[in-house]
Amino acid sequence: MTTSSLLAQRLERVRSEIAAAAHKAGRNPEDVELVAVSKFHPASSIAEAIAAGQRIFGENRVQEASAKFPALRELSPDIKLHLIGGLQTNKARDAVQLADRIESLDRPALADALAKAADACGRMPELLIEVNTGNEPQKFGIARDQADDFIRLCQKRFGEKLCGLMCIPPADEDPTLHFQLLRSMALHHGLPVLSMGMSADYPQAIAQGATHVRVGTAIFGPRPTIP
Ligand SMILES: *Cc1c(COP(=O)(O)O)cnc(C)c1O
Repeated sequence: MTTSSLLAQRLERVRSEIAAAAHKAGRNPEDVELVAVSKFHPASSIAEAIAAGQRIFGENRVQEASAKFPALRELSPDIKLHLIGGLQTNKARDAVQLADRIESLDRPALADALAKAADACGRMPELLIEVNTGNEPQKFGIARDQADDFIRLCQKRFGEKLCGLMCIPPADEDPTLHFQLLRSMALHHGLPVLSMGMSADYPQAIAQGATHVRVGTAIFGPRPTIP
């Protein structure tokens, strides 16, 4: 038996913190899925996480994910890839081919591009709408006051493929208020999936009902500089 790697130890710590936060909130830990955010980290680190039992991964960029995931999938066909970064319409087709879930649907033009790509590819990933809960001009996500209409439109268009909402709260505000807002929107629209919480705040997100937390640094360590 080999001693477990630093990465495997970090992963174990995150898993036990997820379980603790779930218990504290009176929730079943199995109802909270961990998305391991592997952006900027090499395929070898992802392989290490897979060996330690992790199955769902998040990547920001289509190009980077296309370079890393096909080979990993050949070895581990049951892994899942979520695209979580802002998506350009000209990457829609690659994204639809590659992803199991796209978490960053945030505007009508992207909905059009994804629908067209799905027709061409004969497959459609699951979709989450990203809501800019803090209405920050520099951030991705549909603005708060446009979110209800956009969610309704996408539910009509994509049916059950549109399964939930995602948000990234402003760095300088209490995230709990943003998690609560996202949760009430999801409830209002009958959407089951809530992707919220990152390394700094996933226990709070679980307290507010997160079904998926997106954790990078706490598992993989600091990201290497942007390639
Ligand atoms: C990078 C990123 C994360 C992970 O952030 P950490 O602070 O490293 O856990 C989560 N969600 C999105 C959308 C990201 O871009």
